[in-house]
Amino acid sequence: MYRTHNNGALRLQNIGETVTLSGWVQKTRNKGFMVWVDLRDRYGITQLIFDEERSSKEAMTMASELGREYVIQVTGTVIERESKNPNIATGDIELLVSELQVLNSSLTPPFTIEDDTDGGEDLRMKYRYLDIRRKPVRQNLIFRHKVAMAVRNYLSAKNFVEIETPYLIKSTPEGARDFVVPSRMNAGQFYALPQSPQTFKQLLMVGGMDKYFQIVKCFRDEDLRADRQPEFTQIDCEMAFVEQEDILQAFEGLTRHLLKEINGVEIGAFPRMTYDEAMKKYGNDKPDIRFGMEFGELNEVAQHKDFNVFNQAELVVGIAVPGGNQFTRKEIDELTEWVKRPQVGALGMVYCRYNDDGSLKSSVDKFYDQNDLIQWAKQTGAVPGDLICVLSGDTAKVRSQLSALRMELAQRMGLRKPTVFAPLWVVDFPLLEWDEDTKRYHAMHHPFTSPKPGQMELLKTHPGEVKANAYDLVLNGNEIGGGSIRIHDKEIQSKMFDYLGFTPQEAKAQFGFLMDAFQYGAPPHGGIAFGLDRLVAILGGQETIRDFIAFPKNNAGRDVMIDAPATIHQEQLNELHLKLNLSEN
Ligand code: ASP
Repeated sequence: MYRTHNNGALRLQNIGETVTLSGWVQKTRNKGFMVWVDLRDRYGITQLIFDEERSSKEAMTMASELGREYVIQVTGTVIERESKNPNIATGDIELLVSELQVLNSSLTPPFTIEDDTDGGEDLRMKYRYLDIRRKPVRQNLIFRHKVAMAVRNYLSAKNFVEIETPYLIKSTPEGARDFVVPSRMNAGQFYALPQSPQTFKQLLMVGGMDKYFQIVKCFRDEDLRADRQPEFTQIDCEMAFVEQEDILQAFEGLTRHLLKEINGVEIGAFPRMTYDEAMKKYGNDKPDIRFGMEFGELNEVAQHKDFNVFNQAELVVGIAVPGGNQFTRKEIDELTEWVKRPQVGALGMVYCRYNDDGSLKSSVDKFYDQNDLIQWAKQTGAVPGDLICVLSGDTAKVRSQLSALRMELAQRMGLRKPTVFAPLWVVDFPLLEWDEDTKRYHAMHHPFTSPKPGQMELLKTHPGEVKANAYDLVLNGNEIGGGSIRIHDKEIQSKMFDYLGFTPQEAKAQFGFLMDAFQYGAPPHGGIAFGLDRLVAILGGQETIRDFIAFPKNNAGRDVMIDAPATIHQEQLNELHLKLNLSEN
């Protein structure tokens, strides 16, 4: 037997027992007549002690030769420690070792296996198996497991069935490129890896499995963006015989359960906001509502004076930064530079100090008097002590710029508290989105989303105004889930493909199976999918999803440990009927 206990188990009540432990050598301290070893496993650390008087000579010698990360097995007697360590659970005891066996030696690890390691990100990813030995990484993986179990238990208790859907499929459009897999047995043909199980879960509804979920890998070949993974995990869900309200209730229930179970936080009914309102108030369809700084539109009070920048703008909009009048001139200049960075793209920033004595002082005093500025304060909700920051320009652009500024300020001012949770439903998304590149409307969610009742007609005349039965669940400024009520009528679905620019042939070739299925009694249905990686990171109070994935890819989509992607042999290419054409590179 390799072990009678794990390294987190022994306590004072075990004193006198003979036990066997196995694990990794965290560190050794050698005083010549005594050697201490910290023995580590997943469960904790137990201090081992070897001494001249009580341990065998052989064990003493071996102990003094142990290197970091050696795998050893020891047998000995549990004794009370002279100097206790209150920082670890086993800190009251130590193991006086009588027998030591080295199960495996180890090279010196390339970084320290400590909570705070000296290893940089790249090195840790290359040796991820060593990184996983570190407590913070290990705890994150266990935390993820807990969240996944809580999801499974909750949904299963609510009669949802977890059903696997295939990975080798045909394209499901979720707005990204597909990863494809060439078929050896079907020359020139390819499978696509699912961007989501969307069409399959809808077919499960046609199949009568009226409450489905799956914790499932999805694959999207997207351009590089910070903290995106080409493969990621969804909690994918679908229900039949539901309206939007049923879905919101069901998955608000799940989210509330997770917040309670995992974080011990009780949250009442989640607020709801329409997409239009979110854009107007926060310039963003996933607003962080843990803090205020709502937008105040200033067109009426700031235009038609002599300030041309504002006069020519489609939208003049500001936020009141609480306590922002404290900012020095230099800090404000620095903020102005920040919004002018190409990533944000504002042309400049107008500001107005709201002094404690009630007077207002703006950077455009030439054009606006106190009465005007009082109106600015009113619109943005500013009070004395605040700073009003104002941007202007094209509506969509300026909203997104001010949203970026709002988030940046909140970050700097510590308003994005990781232990505060503010969920929110954003509803009534537009059905379609204009794409400048292709000069066409695209489905904002996906082509299976149904328009709001009675809006099919509007599709012909004002496609951009049609609202969808689509919703997102937002948590602390992140979209953690999104879904919709689906079209379940063949005619409407084929009309939708038509509006989206599919020829009937294309629609049939790609989605004929779905439209065929709709002819055999498809029930009304809808669903949602949560991004598990992001959800886990937020519940864990952290920002980066990579920290919660056992073997993540880097920002260039590479697994630096196994070195993938990689070339394949010519024979493999031949078998797959592929000829590479790399001349352009
Ligand atoms: N398939 C959708 C997605 O991946 C979710 C849904 O509509 O249920 O975003």
